[in-house]
Amino acid sequence: MTEAILVLNAGSSSLKFALYDLELAPLCRGDIEEIGRANMELSGPLADQLKPYGSPPEHADRDTINAWLVANLRKLPGLVLRAAGHRIVHGGRRFRGAVQIDADVLAELRSLVPLAPDHQPHNLAMVAAVAAQWPDLPQVACFDTAFHRTQPRLAEIFPLPRALTDAGVLRYGFHGLSYQYIASVLPDYLGAAANGRVIIAHLGNGASLCALENRESVATTMGFTTVEGLMMGTRSGSIDPGVVLHLILQEKMTAEAVARLLNKESGLLGVSGISSDVRSLEASPDPHAAEALELFAYRVIRETGSLIAALGGLDAFVFTAGIGENSANMRKMICDGLEWAGLSLDFRRNAASEKRISTEASKISVLVIPTNEEMAIATNTRQLICRKAAQAQFSQ
Ligand code: ADP
Repeated sequence: MTEAILVLNAGSSSLKFALYDLELAPLCRGDIEEIGRANMELSGPLADQLKPYGSPPEHADRDTINAWLVANLRKLPGLVLRAAGHRIVHGGRRFRGAVQIDADVLAELRSLVPLAPDHQPHNLAMVAAVAAQWPDLPQVACFDTAFHRTQPRLAEIFPLPRALTDAGVLRYGFHGLSYQYIASVLPDYLGAAANGRVIIAHLGNGASLCALENRESVATTMGFTTVEGLMMGTRSGSIDPGVVLHLILQEKMTAEAVARLLNKESGLLGVSGISSDVRSLEASPDPHAAEALELFAYRVIRETGSLIAALGGLDAFVFTAGIGENSANMRKMICDGLEWAGLSLDFRRNAASEKRISTEASKISVLVIPTNEEMAIATNTRQLICRKAAQAQFSQ
């Protein structure tokens, strides 16, 4: 018998899952990159046991795929699930940490759908699929926003009329599970300096920066929604709000068209006119591709300057996620723009994507740390079920 925690990360177009044993050793990892395409990547010791069940059904909708996945996981011989942990994008103001899902929590999470319409419904559909297969299994919500609830009030509020702030128009911040994971492993890389002033650059299709002190978030670049802050694959990041007004009032664009433009047609894709993908842009001879990459780096450099001011200095800078972990070229452009801050890149170490890519003389340590959001979810889930079990024993 293998006791396990199931981890589910239902994104806007992808579905990732993982199984961990109760010591948090990985048993299996799966990735359905594009919902509706009959393709699934599997790895880990249990992967061979899942392979005979085949690929997800082609052209199927999300509910069908969710049901297919949980039904197949249920068939794994000897597997006994102890809990399921879900990535839930939005926890609003109420949830400052992981929480076991009950009817009251579920109602609150549903009420947050308008704040994350591209993600929250998929997250909650997965909760329903698991409940249909295992009605009594404890399910735990792990939030992308919770890590940032340590931000001081001034970092969290917008200079808008107070009534809007009171109504919850705040800087929630996102990518919190990635930041939580990196914060948890920072001492392995930095020792006691892990508790100093650190900026983590999560640079993937979605991208943001987080400033940490004592390994807690004190400021971040994403805001009320995931469109604020850095330039991203297809999202604009921060722009003059006057542009939005111009598009609606002068260009007569509908709100839906502006939302699509800012979320799906801007960023690397919009500036290059070629692709949202850094690998494709780095391979392209087109000057628009080069300009898109330079603008991406420039935005990271400027936002980093702002976070250094919020921190009052900087001790370490961490690159993570697809671009941060893999693009030596992007890391070099960003580090070159931060030399003024005392950051000095070792070119050989950077080209080899070593763990520490700064020179020995650099005042700021520069690290490359692979993120692991699934591990953060598994850790939160295990902590919560262990705490509940201890409480139950204590009250007996
Ligand atoms: P998501 O936010 O969807 O999880 P990822 O963290 O997987 O995104 O990052 C995707 C980005 O990482 C893409 O722009 C991709 O081109 C880039 N990337 C992945 N591998 C490399 C590589 N070897 N070199 C340059 N860029 C890479």
